[in-house]
Amino acid sequence: MAEQLREGLWLLELGFVAPLASNAYLLDDGGDVTLVDSGLPRNWPTLRSELAAAGYEVGDVDRVLLTHYDLDHVGGLARLRPEFDGPVYVGRDDLRLVHGEDDPSVFHHKGAFHRLARVLFPFPADVDVHPVTDGETFDGFTAFHTPGHNPGHTVYLHESGVAFLGDLVWEEDAELTTPIWFDSYDVREIDESVKGLVDRIPPFEVAAMGHGDPIRSRGHAALLALADRL
Ligand SMILES: [Zn+2]
Repeated sequence: MAEQLREGLWLLELGFVAPLASNAYLLDDGGDVTLVDSGLPRNWPTLRSELAAAGYEVGDVDRVLLTHYDLDHVGGLARLRPEFDGPVYVGRDDLRLVHGEDDPSVFHHKGAFHRLARVLFPFPADVDVHPVTDGETFDGFTAFHTPGHNPGHTVYLHESGVAFLGDLVWEEDAELTTPIWFDSYDVREIDESVKGLVDRIPPFEVAAMGHGDPIRSRGHAALLALADRL
């Protein structure tokens, strides 16, 4: 059930139950409404009902940020049509993968899955998808390319002090951890992305990750603690 984390920030609990549960977030900065990630192609509760529980309709959403192309984060995008007609942001290398401009190896466990997924679940044809690059800034957000889980995985920091971390990290027992091998392209690259991110991301308060319970304060310290453990 949708939960308000702080003023203007909502956790939307999508998917089903673990491990098929994933987090999306709604950020209302007083002018614009941003949805970060969108759950599975089918969710229970649904994306629409979670938005409604937070007090919003699909037509209120101005933009969607996707941390990466995995079905538990992008699958719900098609459910926002036709009311949502704003831009969608996703890391450039993941967009290249979806569009077939980059071909992951069929012999790689996740690459083989993505080759199938991009055929069955492409981005909706009439959606304006914008490829995001490292360091890009827009509408109060800064993008950080953090590959490893996916080639184009991207963290978005909002200037209000919220870091949308996607599947760069997960939460377990109030600590941050890194995703498992089975669900990732390259776990060593994830470690390097975590270490690289703590060196360059400005301090933030809320750590909003794709799986687990968001860390509501001192999120930056939690990320530093993880980097020290790696
Ligand atoms: Zn995920």
